[in-house]
Amino acid sequence: MLLQLEDAVLTYGKIEALHGISIEVDEGEVVALIGANGAGKTSTMRALSGIRGLASGKIVFNGEDVTRLRADQRMRRGLVLTPEGRGIFPGMTVTENLDMGAYTRKDRAAIAQDLERAFGLFPRLQERRKQVAGTLSGGEQQMLAIGRALMSRPKLLMLDEPSMGLAPMIIQQIFQIISEIAQQGTTILVVEQNAKQALSRADRAYVLETGNIVKAGTGAALLDDPSIREAYLGVA
Ligand code: ATP
Repeated sequence: MLLQLEDAVLTYGKIEALHGISIEVDEGEVVALIGANGAGKTSTMRALSGIRGLASGKIVFNGEDVTRLRADQRMRRGLVLTPEGRGIFPGMTVTENLDMGAYTRKDRAAIAQDLERAFGLFPRLQERRKQVAGTLSGGEQQMLAIGRALMSRPKLLMLDEPSMGLAPMIIQQIFQIISEIAQQGTTILVVEQNAKQALSRADRAYVLETGNIVKAGTGAALLDDPSIREAYLGVA
């Protein structure tokens, strides 16, 4: 297993947002975590990336217990988050943002190669490489956020709601690229409200409801599950 989250409890003061959830991601998989507003999806991402510590439970990444490591220490080990709202640097150009993604690395030739790879995945970013990021469209900013995360060579790329605020056609494109990144060998954990896209792209998925995992299975099985169809896909 590349990632194991075990019995994770996460609290905000007296509020318990995660009630002891367990998630596993194997190398090479695309795993989705779906759930409604307030289910705890972002809290799970915060816990895994180290933005917020667990009240109890354990996180094992690549064979190492990382539960007590800081966010930057986890990032250096390859556990990398593209946050909700994207977190790009609006005053920097596209290329500068991508370079920032590689700030922990010193292998200049490989960094240059990875920049080319990012531009290959996102031709739109190549066309706009000198544009300041704050003036990019929402979809382009999401592409940049993913591209920047890739520049750190993640072992596990975690994406928090990549479809947020984007038009359906752009959402399609983003998920298409996520599949391509997976095919190129990066393991992916994606958190999504857009259950249809996420389930149709994922090898496996977990359903989170008010801080508990209520269902797990292959993406295909969950897409066919009547209760999931009713609650998350808007079809009876
Ligand atoms: P959304 O899709 O709306 O972002 P989510 O599934 O990501 O929802 P979380 O943001 O993880 O859900 O929130 C889970 C619960 O924790 C919610 O009840 C929320 O109100 C609460 N919560 C989140 N952040 C905080 C915080 N900083 N302080 C207090 N409560 C919080």
